Amino acid sequence: MLRRPVFSAEQLWRRARREAGGAREGRGGRGALGAGPRRGAGGLKGGVSTAVQTPNFIGGAFVAAASGATDEVVNPATGEVIAEVASGDAADADAAVRAASDAFDSWRRTTPRQRFEMITALADAIEADLPELKRLESLNVGKPVSIIDFEFDLTVDNFRFFAAAARFQEGRAAGEYLEDHTSFVRRDPIGVVVGIAPWNYPLNMATWKIGPALAAGNTMVLKPSELTPLTALRLAELAADILPPGVLNVVSGRGATVGAALVEHPRVDMISLTGGVATGKRIAQLASASLKRLHLELGGKAPVVIFDDADVELAVSTLAEMSYYNSGQDCTAPCRFLAGPAVYDDVVAGMTEAVSALRIGDPFDPETNVGPIVSEAHQHRVAAMIARAAEAGAEITTGGAMVDRPGFFVEPTVIANPAQNSEIVQREVFGPSVSIQRFADEAQAVAWANDCDYGLASSIWTSDVGRAMRLSRDLHFGTVWVNDHIPIVSEMPHGGFKESGYGKDMSIYALEHYTELKHVMIRH
Ligand code: NAD
Repeated sequence: MLRRPVFSAEQLWRRARREAGGAREGRGGRGALGAGPRRGAGGLKGGVSTAVQTPNFIGGAFVAAASGATDEVVNPATGEVIAEVASGDAADADAAVRAASDAFDSWRRTTPRQRFEMITALADAIEADLPELKRLESLNVGKPVSIIDFEFDLTVDNFRFFAAAARFQEGRAAGEYLEDHTSFVRRDPIGVVVGIAPWNYPLNMATWKIGPALAAGNTMVLKPSELTPLTALRLAELAADILPPGVLNVVSGRGATVGAALVEHPRVDMISLTGGVATGKRIAQLASASLKRLHLELGGKAPVVIFDDADVELAVSTLAEMSYYNSGQDCTAPCRFLAGPAVYDDVVAGMTEAVSALRIGDPFDPETNVGPIVSEAHQHRVAAMIARAAEAGAEITTGGAMVDRPGFFVEPTVIANPAQNSEIVQREVFGPSVSIQRFADEAQAVAWANDCDYGLASSIWTSDVGRAMRLSRDLHFGTVWVNDHIPIVSEMPHGGFKESGYGKDMSIYALEHYTELKHVMIRH
């Protein structure tokens, strides 16, 4: 049993820099499909001295997987293996759920003030550890240092928001709604919550689960993505000194093994997933056997409706940045542009020029705008979708290819004039690619924007307040931005309609979703 993980970001970072030495910067040749050699693969198993191993965090202690199995964690900017992480299975899931279940009875009895103080202390510890956490995330996800501050600032603020929100739970006033009876409501915690996180914002997505779950008095087992577990394990290290044992547990491993075992565990009361639609449907099936509460934050395909009266310069300068933020691996990414007939040509030309100038490369170079795709498999998936869009008749005005350098890079891409029913318009790419269509009038813009299985986020670009109001009503998406796209704040809800899932993240609405509403009625 280990008290602490034995890795440090410094160690991983130095090694990554060494391995990356000599890698070519900037864009590679068009059509270069080779991802380059996979560096370091097998190095850890071969006993390289820089080997780093990260165990699970269960009941306040760091423990290896019961089976002893591990998963390799890869730096997507270089292709090298940077860590070996415990690969949990049903035995680890069971141990973690039992620890969380045992801790629940005392954690649910803590006062809001006590939870506020502990969650605030965790926020402070994260803030003090930001350089380490950011470097780990850049190494593990390939996030450029030029863009990483926002999500970590949000993570600290999210924890502080939920710490405070623990003290402000809402409900109707107590009263005699029936003669000689007094009624009031309680908001009780649900029990053991399993949080299952994706790889695109590993720590921030974990925060959106841990914050409301713990603030409401639940205990948690967090399963980070098998691709990006390092910051969640670092968070466990910070939490070990602050939270009582078992209140937060972190078990890494694959979805189909440890993830499914957590979902099916009889002592789990709620599942909170951020991930793909197919995963959401699978988890909903598994959870239906015992009717566990679900919170599903799934994929997106955000329409960006740019009217002829919009400030096109503002739109292009904002969207050329936001569409490629985090390599487009963002569920709310502005990716499906619908431009009015008079501005379509300007939008295509403006985006093509601005996107061509984006700098792709080493995440640790402060000049880099766009880093790699998270994995080799995803890199190929993104490139194949772009290639199929071109085969189907759309025009690629910039980008379109994988980059000929180590790691998993795809050029920032603009695709003009795809058909409304084409794959590139209808399906989530989750990569650095946008499509641009020309609409005829407002009615067609709304119809096309809503003609999609997803319903997570959208934006309207116009100078007409009435039109902004009409579309805010008519767009069927969980967020509608007007003349912007991407900003989020702790106080406001984030969540989907349709196949983007249900349940809200952030805001007081998230806290409510992690509670049971109970009516108490007293006969006088
Ligand atoms: P994914 O669905 O492949 O994996 C998400 C998590 O689910 C991982 O931890 C994975 O191990 C786990 N998982 C997979 N199968 C499972 C199973 N059968 N049982 C239990 N757990 C299982 O998604 P991803 O590739 O990690 O992330 C990308 C997806 O996440 C995209 O579709 C993106 O749109 C979505 N996403 C949504 C939001 C949002 O707020 N709506 C935010 C970020 C990402």
